[in-house]
Amino acid sequence: MIRLRLKPGREASVARRHPWLFSGAVASAEGDGSDGHAEVFDAGGRTLAHGSFSPDSQIVARLWTFGGRIPDAALFRERFEAARRLREAVLPAETTGFRAVNSEGDLCPGVLVDTYGDVAVLDLLTEGTEKWEAELTQAAREVFSPREILVRRTGSERDRGSRLPLPLGEGRGEGGAQSRTVAFTETGLKFLADVSAGQKTGFFLDQRDNRARLRALASGRTVLNLFSYSGGFSVAALAGGAARAVDVDASEAALALAREHRRANGFPVNEEDFVRADVFDDLRARVEAGESWDVVVCDPPAFARKRADVTRAARGYKDINRLAMRLVYSGGWLLTCSCSGLVSWDLFGKIVFSASLEAGRSFTIAARLGAGADHPVSLECPEGEYLKGLWLSRLT
Ligand code: SAH
Repeated sequence: MIRLRLKPGREASVARRHPWLFSGAVASAEGDGSDGHAEVFDAGGRTLAHGSFSPDSQIVARLWTFGGRIPDAALFRERFEAARRLREAVLPAETTGFRAVNSEGDLCPGVLVDTYGDVAVLDLLTEGTEKWEAELTQAAREVFSPREILVRRTGSERDRGSRLPLPLGEGRGEGGAQSRTVAFTETGLKFLADVSAGQKTGFFLDQRDNRARLRALASGRTVLNLFSYSGGFSVAALAGGAARAVDVDASEAALALAREHRRANGFPVNEEDFVRADVFDDLRARVEAGESWDVVVCDPPAFARKRADVTRAARGYKDINRLAMRLVYSGGWLLTCSCSGLVSWDLFGKIVFSASLEAGRSFTIAARLGAGADHPVSLECPEGEYLKGLWLSRLT
């Protein structure tokens, strides 16, 4: 256990129970943090909090308890049980794929558990929580009783990389890994998560509410699904009676899964509905060709991963939305998303507004939808809210 003494006057964020302790607040450190444990105390020597220690990160500790309690297997079990109760209350029927533990949102900073059927994926997001692997795995086994637990350690890579916190909710696949898929259902639809080589832990569980809304309005409509990954939006649209859905993604592996998803749900696989392309090029070509669609879904990867990226990211979002807006029929819809935590709802609204001015199209916001209730956000850590989806309706 390492003992981190705060600089005088730097205890305010800890007093507000914010789970991130930045290295700039620390005056001195004493002891050995190789077991991943950190104790935080104020300049006067009073213990304030305990958490996991990440020496190479700007967020030097993620705080799990405030007061005297030292995180251990019993605490992990309690937190996981609370997380399980929340899911039992909010998950829709016929849904075996969901986020079972959402890091700060479940008071488990640095830990994700995604469940796909009877397989659980434990993603350790920080160097500190990687050190707690044995106890966390044991607690997950006891509380969620999966047939199998897969562990991903994405923490050290993040913490040592840029020394800047990556946005939450973005576990990345280890490049080049052999793919391994696990079957699960979401509101009765059949999907596969690529748990070893896929993005995140294998599926974008956070978009479930937006998929449900698309399904509800898709009947008879044509859908262009940009940045489709494994085509979850298209499957939802087809289940809702869409006339056609086209997936566009740069990744062939993602499109291969998208084809499998259609087959698994009894929809035909037409080769022209899977387009491997850079979305920016593809959109320009479609605008040039004068295409129109009833519904366009635009769900790009996070364009901003650190604060310095925000201006460039805003330009990217504006460009892509301007082009996407040009493709929507009057009376149609654009679902436009940003999963950059650093782009607020307010900023995203402004970006989309300026895109609409440049596109010469009027849209109205019919709904704002973020991640589902299995991705809770702690009031103490609003940074946990990253996904924003604007449902834009073209009225004229
Ligand atoms: N909408 C998806 C998740 C999107 S993740 C879902 O609901 O499941 C972002 C996807 O964008 C990834 O599949 C990635 O391969 C793809 N991608 C990233 N940059 C791209 C680009 N410039 N052109 C096309 N696809 C891109």
